[in-house]
Amino acid sequence: GLDLTQFEVGDLIGEGAFGQVYVASHKRSKRVKVALKCMVKSQQDRYLDVDGHSTPVLAEVAMMLRLMKAPRCPNIIRLHNWLEIEDNCVLILEYAESCQTLLQYIKDTADIEENQARQLMRQLIRAIMFCTERGVFHGDIHTANILVTLPRLELKLIDFGCAQPITQKPFNKSDYRGAGHGMPPEALRCRVFHANPAYVWTIGIMLYEIMHGRLAFNNRQSIMFGAIQIHPRLSTACVDLISQCLIRNPAKRLQLHQVEEHCWFNPTTPNPV
Ligand code: ADP
Ligand code: MG
Ligand code: MG
Repeated sequence: GLDLTQFEVGDLIGEGAFGQVYVASHKRSKRVKVALKCMVKSQQDRYLDVDGHSTPVLAEVAMMLRLMKAPRCPNIIRLHNWLEIEDNCVLILEYAESCQTLLQYIKDTADIEENQARQLMRQLIRAIMFCTERGVFHGDIHTANILVTLPRLELKLIDFGCAQPITQKPFNKSDYRGAGHGMPPEALRCRVFHANPAYVWTIGIMLYEIMHGRLAFNNRQSIMFGAIQIHPRLSTACVDLISQCLIRNPAKRLQLHQVEEHCWFNPTTPNPV
């Protein structure tokens, strides 16, 4: 069986609202580093049934398991295993070597170039498309839940603690458990929302933040009514993509399958006039 004594626990590498993340190495295969995400079970209120398990597991584990069946997506952090010890749950995750959060990367890098942004956004979209194919709504995509490895800029989506299964039914506003500034406007206005348009909104929010080094909207009022201030250094195609992802009416917003085909991702095709 698996237990924590098989790991040599190293430094604390991250702390969130409900848990700590430590780097660790597997003693028998010395070189294999993992990230241990430790949580208190009684502080987690969501459990889901998973095939092959007699008892429901943390929703975070259940949602990640859907993404771990082969073929996997290289842009989603891997869940190797998990342990339940008394009131604790420990996720044994792939350790992203020489990485930073996207939050830190944006802080450290003034005026990120569009080529770098494009490389990051392609990988984020790949991760998002993969989640939709497996019926997972991440629900908390923001710059502290995205890791970027340096210098190659490989992107890994982490933290499925707010994730939900996608069904035919729309989500309710109260189903949205992620950071408030990521909430799509239709959730605020209509109280219901669908996964795909919400993901497209997130793509616009992330591209805006990468290109500007700050949030597009700071509060609910500006999510619903605020004008976006776009920097003049951005290309026409980049401005167009941000604007089309941040259309407040989800029916008029760019659709998820159209995002990758946008001319910003295909710089040889002519820009819109
Ligand atoms: P929480 O649910 O508490 O927000 P996260 O899963 O987002 O926890 O992890 C908190 C922080 O720990 C992240 O922002 C990141 O800095 C770090 N971290 C998490 N997982 C990994 C990992 N697999 N490799 C490297 N760092 C990680
Ligand atoms: Mg987090
Ligand atoms: Mg979380």
